[in-house]
Amino acid sequence: MIPIFDSKRQYAKIGSEIEKAVLEVLRSGAYILGPNVKALESELAKYIGCNYTVALNSGTDALHLALRALDIGKGDEVITTAFTFVATTESIEIVGATPVFCDINPDTFNIDADKIEALITPKTKAIMPVHLYGQPCDMDKIMDIAKRHDLYVIEDCCQAIGAEYKGKRVGTFGDIGCYSFYPTKNLGTMGDGGLITVNSENLKNRIVALRNHGGAIRYHHDEIGVNSRLDEIQAAILRVKLNYIDEWNKARREHAATYNKLFSECADIQTPKELDNTYCVYHQYTVKIPNRDEIFDKLHEAGIGAMLYYPIPLHMQKVHAHLGYKMGDLPITEKNTECVISLPMFPELTIEEQKMIASTLIDCVEKSKAMA
Ligand SMILES: *Cc1c(COP(=O)(O)O)cnc(C)c1O
Repeated sequence: MIPIFDSKRQYAKIGSEIEKAVLEVLRSGAYILGPNVKALESELAKYIGCNYTVALNSGTDALHLALRALDIGKGDEVITTAFTFVATTESIEIVGATPVFCDINPDTFNIDADKIEALITPKTKAIMPVHLYGQPCDMDKIMDIAKRHDLYVIEDCCQAIGAEYKGKRVGTFGDIGCYSFYPTKNLGTMGDGGLITVNSENLKNRIVALRNHGGAIRYHHDEIGVNSRLDEIQAAILRVKLNYIDEWNKARREHAATYNKLFSECADIQTPKELDNTYCVYHQYTVKIPNRDEIFDKLHEAGIGAMLYYPIPLHMQKVHAHLGYKMGDLPITEKNTECVISLPMFPELTIEEQKMIASTLIDCVEKSKAMA
């Protein structure tokens, strides 16, 4: 089986470095908010290009604490996409605010910036774009709308570490950027982890307090916070892996180019498009095909671990049923959930594997077309 992501192959290459770093933490006796978290925060601020970062327990916490830090809650609306992982919209509901779904651009899979303004009401407080699959959103347009309507922007960068829009890394455009270090992310740890990027010192201080029971000074609690500290072991692992992220993202881009070439003669397989002036980091390589469900099964029978991100649009999920959306409300999102399929994508993928995956997929698509 060629998996969608293979953490074992990565470990085979850098395992000894990781073991050394973890052992140092174990022996140091400092396990929470110690030197590794501190160093990781400054290394990532430098890497991403923002003033501050705050390391957290998960990407989900990053999103919901971003909303808390901006005082977004009950009665407020946040415009986002329904074509993303549920954590994006879950975070909005966690703080008591209301997600407002905007349809996506069919080419980029990201929020369609041209459709945002029509959704703005007096209750709108923020726009939450998601850089899905590692592809940056159209940030010029989004930031322009946010400025004109005095809205916050919270970027969900969980799939897009290292991605750039016009030469700047994602997470540096809006008020707050949110990252995840879930093991399968481009920069993944060996447990859970997340991060907030921010330029305002006040916001940074608020998030630092929220992550540790709502107080900046020990045993002084100003508001309800959470325990969302990244631990030293995860931070040490991430510091090792950060040295490789550019190389890994480059390999992903090369694999994407190889797939594009291999699929170029099959008109029924729509390969992903990139916006101009962006550096996409291909967290996923996602194509659109006809008869997707049938072909998905065939690929698995052939030993190809393709995945469906995401099979049900979020406006149709039970958790958001109370919002009152129905099928037909987001036509492009709905159409995409029916035809997208993500293929194995990780830095260590080989050319032989890519050729096998491509020829199998082309074969399946052609056969299913002939049967129709
Ligand atoms: C992974 C992911 C999250 C959540 O991150 P966790 O670290 O798993 O909590 C949020 N949004 C998107 C788009 C993601 O891919």
